[in-house]
Amino acid sequence: MPVNEIKDLSKLCVHTITTKPWSLKTAVDKFSKKGISGITIWRDALEGLRLHEVKSMLDDNGMDVVSLCRGGFFPSVEKQKREEAINDNKKAIEEAAQIGAPLVVLVCGSDPGQLLEESRKQIQEGIEVVLPFAKERNIKLAIEPLHPMYADTRSAINTLKQANDMCVNIDDPTVGVAVDVYHLWWDETLEEEIARCGLLNKLFAFHICDWKTPTTDMLLDRGLMGEGCIPVKKIRSWVESAGFAGYNEVEIFSNRYWEMDQDDFLEKIVQAYLHKS
Ligand code: ZN
Repeated sequence: MPVNEIKDLSKLCVHTITTKPWSLKTAVDKFSKKGISGITIWRDALEGLRLHEVKSMLDDNGMDVVSLCRGGFFPSVEKQKREEAINDNKKAIEEAAQIGAPLVVLVCGSDPGQLLEESRKQIQEGIEVVLPFAKERNIKLAIEPLHPMYADTRSAINTLKQANDMCVNIDDPTVGVAVDVYHLWWDETLEEEIARCGLLNKLFAFHICDWKTPTTDMLLDRGLMGEGCIPVKKIRSWVESAGFAGYNEVEIFSNRYWEMDQDDFLEKIVQAYLHKS
């Protein structure tokens, strides 16, 4: 299957955390001036803001809110922490509804004090508990499998197969998957699991960036597309073959890029998106 070339910015979405030094207002202003209409909003960017004003600002600038990041972190050896997580996920769903985000992305969580199987069980239970709340508000939930280097504390779901399997177990159209190339590029079953995800109608979101060599920080050293070893174009072609027609979301956590002028960085994002994605 030949790769469709990216011709314009109509499918480009940028995560607020990618340009973390900017306030939400500045990010919206800069993105829209650049012709970028897709935005995924991280909850830290909403701190101290009135959500109805955020909604107006997004609408006034013609921004399309792709998702809210992030809910999840369901597992814990402590019952009280699991209950707190449920409440926090309900809060995230409510925030998403108020700002017009149709999707909450779940970084599902993991507790190193218990087996991964137990954490996965608690993730499924947590999703099933918040599901009716999400459905009432017409908000979808996306399980984002995370690279296994995060299996201790950030997510016990580390492959697309595990995420697909959990969607099959939960069996509700509200729950799907966010495919992030950073987390999944190494997996030899990725192409077939992306195809399966599409057949299940579970491919809700697609996140892009690159894996640098060497990676100097396990969390905060992601690269721009084309800077590393991830075949972003190839993976995008699989995702599109699976029927995905949504935004390509640039999600980069990088101390190096956050230190630079963010206008220059945004231009780099646009160029990498057009030519290396
Ligand atoms: Zn992601």
